[in-house]
This record gives sequence, structure tokens and C-alpha cells, in this order.
Amino acid sequence: MISINEAIAILKENIPPQELEKWPLYLAVGLYLAEDILAPEPSPRYTNSAMDGYAVRWADLCKLTPDRPTHLTICGESRAGEPFPKIVKVGEAVRISTGAMLPDGADTVIRVEDTREEGQSVVISAAKKMGQDVRHRGEEFAEGDLLLRRGTRIGAPQVALLTAVGIDQVKVFSPCKVSILVTGSELVVTGAAIAEHQIRDSNMSMLRAAVQETEATLVSFARVSDDRQATIVAIGKAAADIIICTGGVSVGRHDHVKEAAEENGFTPLFWRVRQKPGKPLYFARKGKTLLFGLPGNPVSAFMCFTHYVRPLIGAISGRTFGWPMVTAKAAEEIVNRDGRPNMLRVRMSREQEGGYVVTSGEKQGSHMLTSLAEGDWYIILEPGQSLRAGEDVFVYSYDFRREPIRREQ
Ligand code: AMP
Ligand code: MG
Repeated sequence: MISINEAIAILKENIPPQELEKWPLYLAVGLYLAEDILAPEPSPRYTNSAMDGYAVRWADLCKLTPDRPTHLTICGESRAGEPFPKIVKVGEAVRISTGAMLPDGADTVIRVEDTREEGQSVVISAAKKMGQDVRHRGEEFAEGDLLLRRGTRIGAPQVALLTAVGIDQVKVFSPCKVSILVTGSELVVTGAAIAEHQIRDSNMSMLRAAVQETEATLVSFARVSDDRQATIVAIGKAAADIIICTGGVSVGRHDHVKEAAEENGFTPLFWRVRQKPGKPLYFARKGKTLLFGLPGNPVSAFMCFTHYVRPLIGAISGRTFGWPMVTAKAAEEIVNRDGRPNMLRVRMSREQEGGYVVTSGEKQGSHMLTSLAEGDWYIILEPGQSLRAGEDVFVYSYDFRREPIRREQ
């Protein structure tokens, strides 16, 4: 049996090399950039107006005071997509819309609110400074500036930025491919008739949902009974970067996953981790394919997925190996009376001063799904460790959308 840290170290040693691919931008949402992206053009691309108003020459406004407004002749209009084709001359103004090109000759924009029209003239009652309400070409970034760093997650803002500068394909870390294999002769699909001695297969739905929340692509999923030969065949068919099995990985007479993996040419890297829940966790490798045998108990399967499989999926997909974490204070005394390190599911709430406090749920059994569904945080306590009320503790989250607070173990 190995420790949690030893197991994590073995995972990290076995992260396969990351693969890079060009993807159409609209399909790359949720993936990680495998290249730095430099601006192919400046932003704004042309000097334009920040306001609806009038494009003018600052020099024409030099005599302007609150009781002596300036009168300028309106000589045309610059609209979004339809620039004014001539030069603004001395004593002239051009009506301009937000985002429309600033015409040659003009250097300043006066917003509508500081003007009124009188026949062919505009009367300007206020102006602060030369160049006001003008957005200059390249003021946000110049051609060649670094726009996005390698390793950035592509979300809606990144899609918008890249589209705005004309980029519609990006090099990303290929999403990791995952296969799920659920084992157990007692399992029944939800919706089917169920006998008293049977169990609804919640691991399949849980793991499919969990994988769906990652950068990975689910390429296949299957159920198999506790039959040695059927398990060998099922593992043989599961072609993926990561094969996630559940159940059948303990010491029972009907547990076949380890043997079936090894029959398929997998080399075991570890089996059994000093932890609760999830002690029977199994990890093996064949070439670039990694295989996890998660215990069948739903809470154990989920905690093993979160603490081991999830960061590995992230690392293959271009993220740093790690977990979202924050520091919080224990709201009450929390004790691990178990002889193994314990991954306790906890609740987080906000203290009045803005920090977080954690309380431990009562029902921590590895078959008790409510302990997972009531929050999305856990702490790891060493055997016999006790946290005093008010003591600081690192809290892990199983919601990996909380990326910015992730840290390495
Ligand atoms: P095992 O790891 O196969 O010994 O299973 C341990 C416990 O988890 C048993 O009580 C199983 O009935 C239960 N279990 C196994 N697989 C599933 C599953 N897919 N969904 C829900 N419970 C399961
Ligand atoms: Mg079983």
C-alpha cells in the first residue's frame, strides 16, 4: 500500500506527452492554447469615435467658453461602416457615430450631449481637451503584441478577442480521450425493473457527467458483469488515452479488473492507496494508455476520480497538474479517528469577515452520495489528526472551473 503523495508522484511520472492540433476556434471552447498568440493587426484597426457626436478640429474650439459657444458648419457624416470621404476643414464639423472612422482633418469628438444643431450648424457648448473621445488605432495593442499566452483556457472572451483580429483556427492541446467501463453483476440501468438485491448503476452516469465537465472527450462507455473473460474483452475494446473502470478492483473472488488489464498487456503501477475512501485504487499503463481501476462504491469512485483522474485529464489537456484549493478555517473541531488519511467531504460557508469556514458532514460512508452532493469541497486529514475550531486548513474543490486558485500539491 502506498501513500496519497506517492500515488500522485507516480501519476505525474506517467503523464503522456501532450499532443497538439489545429482546431477551428468555435470547436476549441474549453480547450487550452498550445501556442502564444501574437496580434496579427492593431486594435483598434482604425482611429474612431468613442461617442455619438461631432468630429471637429480642436483648433476651432480655442475661443470656446461656457457663455460663448462655438458654431461650426456641418459638412457631412461618418457612420459605422460608411466613413466620411473628405477632409474636415477649418470651421467644419462632421456628424459621427460611436465606432465610426474619424475623418481626416478632425482630431477631437464632441458628444451629442454638449451640442445642439441650428440649421446647417452645430453649436458646441463644452469641450475638455484635444483628442477627447477618440479611440486611436493601436491604442489597445499593436501588431505583434502578445494577445494570449500558451496555456490559456479558451472561453467566450478569448473567442471574441481572436475573432476580432481575424483568427479562426488555433493550436490547442488535443482533448484527452476517455473510455468508461463499469463492472458489476448486481447493477441495473435506471429505468429498468429492479429486484431487492440489485443496485442502480449510478457510477456510469456520475463518471459520464464528471468527464463531461472536463476538457476530455468521452469516446466509449460500456457495462460488464463480474466475469473474467467478459472483462478482458471489454478492456481490450476500450481504446482511449485514459480507461476508467469502476468496481471489481478489490480482493473479492469476483473482482477481475486488475487481472483483465494485465491480460491485455497493462503494467500495474500501483494498487491500494492508504486513504479513505478509495483504498483499492488501481493504476496501470500500456504504452500511452493509462488505466484506472476505481472502487465500485460511488463515493470512493468519485473521490478517486477527483483527486487522481481529474488532474491527470487536465495535465494531458494542457493544464497544470493540480486541484482548485483555498485556505479556510475549521468552524468546529474536526477529527480523523481513522487509521488512514481521510478525504472528508466538507461544507464551506462564508464568515462575516469574508473568509471561509468549513464544517464536516456527519455521513461520510463511502456509499453515501449525499456527502458529495451537499457541497463540492474536501479536506485531507492524517490518521488521528484533529483540527481545532479556528485552525487553518487547505480545502480542495472538486469543481475544476475554480481554476485560478489551483495549486500543486
Ligand atoms: P466493488 O468495488 O465492485 O466491490 O463494489 C463495491 C460496492 O459498490 C458494492 O456495494 C457495489 O454494489 C457498489 N457499486 C459497484 N459498482 C457500482 C455502480 N456502478 N453504481 C453504484 N454502486 C456500485
Ligand atoms: Mg463488484
